[in-house]
Amino acid sequence: MTSPQETTADHDVVVIGAGFAGLYAVHRANERGHRVLGIEAAHGPGGTWYWNRYPGARCDVESLDYSYSFDEQLQQEWRWSERYATQPEILRYIEHVADRFDLRRHYRFGERVLAASFDEASAQWTVRTDAGTVATTRHLICATGSLSAPHRPDIPGLDDFEGDVLMTANWPHEGVDLTGRRVAVIGTGSSGVQSVPLLAEQAESLVVFQRSPNFSVPAFNRSIPDDEYAEALRTYAERRAKSWASTAGSPHVGYDREALDLTPEERRAVFDEWWQRGGVLFAKAFPRQTIDPEINDLAREYAAEQVRSRVHDAQVAEDLIPNDHPIGTKRICTDSGYFETFNRDNVSLVNLRREPIETFVKWGAKTATSSYEFDTLVLATGFDALTGALTRMDVRGTDGVTMAERWADGPLTLLGLSVPGFPNLYNISGAGSPSVLANMVLTAEQHVDWVLDLIAHLDERGFRAAEAREDAAVAWTKHVDEVANGTLFTKANSWYMGANIEGKARGFIPYIGGFKTYIDHCESVRDGGYRGYVLSS
Ligand code: FAD
Ligand code: NAP
Repeated sequence: MTSPQETTADHDVVVIGAGFAGLYAVHRANERGHRVLGIEAAHGPGGTWYWNRYPGARCDVESLDYSYSFDEQLQQEWRWSERYATQPEILRYIEHVADRFDLRRHYRFGERVLAASFDEASAQWTVRTDAGTVATTRHLICATGSLSAPHRPDIPGLDDFEGDVLMTANWPHEGVDLTGRRVAVIGTGSSGVQSVPLLAEQAESLVVFQRSPNFSVPAFNRSIPDDEYAEALRTYAERRAKSWASTAGSPHVGYDREALDLTPEERRAVFDEWWQRGGVLFAKAFPRQTIDPEINDLAREYAAEQVRSRVHDAQVAEDLIPNDHPIGTKRICTDSGYFETFNRDNVSLVNLRREPIETFVKWGAKTATSSYEFDTLVLATGFDALTGALTRMDVRGTDGVTMAERWADGPLTLLGLSVPGFPNLYNISGAGSPSVLANMVLTAEQHVDWVLDLIAHLDERGFRAAEAREDAAVAWTKHVDEVANGTLFTKANSWYMGANIEGKARGFIPYIGGFKTYIDHCESVRDGGYRGYVLSS
């Protein structure tokens, strides 16, 4: 491997990122004989699971599904210990994959790509990192993650706070001992909801600053006994086939009768069953639950009852029940004892809708009506999702325009994979693709395979570049928008809508038409000779 500051040789493929998507891209590109270079800001593989080491971090898609499907031996030999594995276990798995397929040798770790520019004459991308590396490549695969650009809120006085400030999205690798500490958390999305119960167990006191409550369903997590695991391994092919044919990349198919055709008792039984399945699966209890407001209201009321039955203080319970969005239109959190945590004597909830934070001060925070003293602040404040990783880089296409400028009014993509003006650049699991609405390991496999097929098509026919046509990208983006508008998802101020980042264009960013439908679209574009692309020699 070359040393930093050195210009690396030409590559066929540069992959940015070493999460699930990047590692798979490097593996497959290498297998196909491409000269491949991986670049990763982190000091090792893992992506999401390298950075998000906060207490309680786990997946919310079952590990048997949230894992690579491309290698039968790998999936037969790996043993997940629990239904939803913890962050350390998922990281161990990803590291195992990196070693098993000898992928680390292709990477430059600890280097952040600052800029990439396309030269039309040579049809090459030049990529520059913060370590001074300059690499040229024909194809640039951005496996930079949809939830990898952490969002630090701009709250008055935050820099004046003299205690420790931790971010769930960049948790210290050595861990943090919170024994005897007075801790405050801002953020009650999935990261906050997962970490709060464990922070409460460790800390002397915990204050949860909540701007918007979220729906959360218990994970009903458990270890998987050997006999059950053996059966899962035996039927893995079937399980995967269902996932590939599904809307969200997992084998769980929702109840097939309409909620409004059932009696209240029958309906309740269905809600009970889907609640017990745990976590995000509750969104699937009825097929039209995130489409029909009447059905959604029934599901919301059921979830609200669950909160009331768990939280002793009636006012706290009401504060924890969302009333600003249809259930499922923000990702339902998957928790282990979240609501029960508010029954602890050392935990308090501050409803920022009633008493907003006015300012941080060196010892804590002042709200409109009170003061809170703490030594450690945990920011579980989310990400500039789906577009942030790309727009934070200085990526310039054919006309010198940056991705941030190109997407100022919202992301414009063809299949989520390609952007007009950015030939031979491919975005994995990003805007305009099912990405965060599906099991992202499978979406990554599908995207990468499709991109490498496109590259093979170019090579076989002597083309040098593939660029999404403007009209084709406009049509795809309009389709992405139309499908979302047929659901209740556009009613929430969610990060899916870009609503969590000040100044970000509003619009539904991922593709909600379903994983299988999306695959069909991709295959149809491929089978039509890459319809919608300009292929040039
Ligand atoms: P990432 O894992 O985000 O990897 C992207 C990598 O690119 C990062 O390591 C980053 O450092 C690197 N990178 C970005 N920009 C640059 C740059 N300029 N230069 C160099 N390197 C760069 N999804 C699910 O389907 N199921 C789950 O259960 C689930 N749980 C999640 C839990 C948490 C806490 C979070 C935050 C997300 C979760 N997700 C889940 C979404 C998760 O992000 C994806 O499942 C998946 O891990 C994404 O893999 P990836 O390779 O696409 O991106
Ligand atoms: P998030 O869902 O965006 O939540 C961020 C939280 O921070 C929200 O409660 C938000 O409040 C709050 N916040 C942001 N700025 C604030 C401010 N200025 N003042 C007060 N509150 C503020 O982020 P996340 O929890 O990291 O989750 C992001 C996504 O990652 C999830 O939806 C999921 O897809 C994935 N994830 C999955 C898991 C899992 O269970 N496997 C765990 C973590 C993350 P508002 O809602 O009011 O903006």
